Amino acid sequence: MFDVQSIRNDFPILSQKVNNHDLIYFDNGATTQKPQVVIDTIVDAYTKTNSNIHRGIHTLSQTSTNLYEQARRTVQTFIHAPSDKEIIFTKGVTESLNLVAQTFSEAFLKEGDEIIVSAMEHHSNLVPWQMVCERKKATLKFIPFNHDGVLDIEAYKKLFTTKTKFVSVVHVSNTLGTVNPIKLLIDIAHEHNVPIMIDGAQSIQHCPIDVQALGCDFFAFSGHKIYAPTGTGVLWGKEEWLEKLPPYQGGGDMIKTVSLEKTIYNELPFKFEAGTTNYVGAHALGTALRYLMNIGIENIQKHEAELMAYATQKLREIPQVTIIGNAEEKAGAISFLVKGAHCADVGMILDKQGIAIRTGTHCTEPIMTYYGIPGTARMSFALYNTKEEIDYFAKILSKIALMFE
Ligand code: PLP
Repeated sequence: MFDVQSIRNDFPILSQKVNNHDLIYFDNGATTQKPQVVIDTIVDAYTKTNSNIHRGIHTLSQTSTNLYEQARRTVQTFIHAPSDKEIIFTKGVTESLNLVAQTFSEAFLKEGDEIIVSAMEHHSNLVPWQMVCERKKATLKFIPFNHDGVLDIEAYKKLFTTKTKFVSVVHVSNTLGTVNPIKLLIDIAHEHNVPIMIDGAQSIQHCPIDVQALGCDFFAFSGHKIYAPTGTGVLWGKEEWLEKLPPYQGGGDMIKTVSLEKTIYNELPFKFEAGTTNYVGAHALGTALRYLMNIGIENIQKHEAELMAYATQKLREIPQVTIIGNAEEKAGAISFLVKGAHCADVGMILDKQGIAIRTGTHCTEPIMTYYGIPGTARMSFALYNTKEEIDYFAKILSKIALMFE
């Protein structure tokens, strides 16, 4: 049974008032709130078990190490990875994407080669590729999307040449809400023998992920968007690829032996985890994922799909509102414009009523350029949101729409 009221009780931040109104938190695409179990994990770690991992023989260090490695296995279970060696802890999806862009290009990209991303990427899956393409004199190509915010698969197929070396694409657009057909994108890339990475920043919290069923080569996500602390993230990669890539950063833990002349790198996953990691955060990420597995990610998906459909309907009932992104399959986020109003003004007025949404470009400036708009207002959902919150939001938004008319 999915009981949203009891879930809400798990999130202490939700019961406060903001600007003298009950908080309605619709900014989950930017970051999610944390359940008490995750907060307790952090407090417990710093009050009971804190000690640096992997290099201590004393009890606290071993406990801390065990908790860290247990979290790694939880991530493995959550995304159905074949081995925990393939789970790399990072500080977020941005670092995961940069790690692959930099190490892959260092090992495999040369002048004249080509990389494919989509035109709807978050800056963090665009800029790292621009950087490496500039450095290596390679070309970045873009999968276009149409006015509904749907990728053009035929155009994607035509982007491949013998020089295509890598594809990196977002699973769910943080701005348009589009759920991209990644299984198809992966299969097409593999028909051309090209590896593909999926930016799962906006999908991991909304739908079940099975990296083996998907067949992608890399999958990345941030902890803070899935009810875990900031500064945590994951890169999953197929072992064969991770073995082939050079280390990302040098330092402690990523080495097996070091002499003044030469270093032998550590085995997976440690080869990619240089220095003291955010081990307390990783442990809390494990707690967050176990919390979600107890509720059932399919139950969360169903609840959020109902919220998306309900909110879409409510927005459509306000004549002055235009939804940006009308793909058939959407998840998590709805972007919209209010006639005559700047999105920042809409966000500020909603805030006065205790409603938190995000406004602006959402780190996807090329999407704004495509639609010829400065930004959008975006509401984005989590498992603890309710239809009653959407009703209240729609009531206030209708008034705002009339004000600006
Ligand atoms: N990719 C997508 C689709 C996102 O929505 C975001 C953040 O909003 C990112 C990447 C970057 O995430 P982070 O800032 O947690 O690294």
